[in-house]
Amino acid sequence: MCVFCKIINNELNSYTLFEDKIIKVFMDINPSSNGHILIVPKKHYENINDIELETMNHINVIIKKMYKILNNKLNFDGITLVQNNGLGQDIKHYHIHIIPKYHNNELKDVKEIFDILKSE
Ligand code: AMP
Ligand code: ZN
Repeated sequence: MCVFCKIINNELNSYTLFEDKIIKVFMDINPSSNGHILIVPKKHYENINDIELETMNHINVIIKKMYKILNNKLNFDGITLVQNNGLGQDIKHYHIHIIPKYHNNELKDVKEIFDILKSE
């Protein structure tokens, strides 16, 4: 079973921000910036060629939802979406990275950022 399937099955720990029947959103363990998160479909699709449009549409809804949360809690200066396929894709389970950008990019602990994002 792949690493992300294990996270989805709770066989591996993750800092999970949000989940529903279709997707799970958790912190990237090796973030490029504060608030770097991954949106991962619960069903194992390898890449953009495999995933169904319906699931991609749902992921777009979640991207907009996460944008609001990141913006409210972290006050980023910009945001970049990344989705690797094949070469450059380390985990062969479809996922989208949301990577906030800051003028001042001082990387903090993942747990610290997770607690900020989870706070009311
Ligand atoms: P990609 O190269 O697009 O497949 O990116 C894979 C991402 O998954 C990288 O940014 C890793 O830091 C991240 N990653 C790998 N293992 C874990 C894990 N156990 N929990 C959270 N993120 C992970
Ligand atoms: Zn998988």
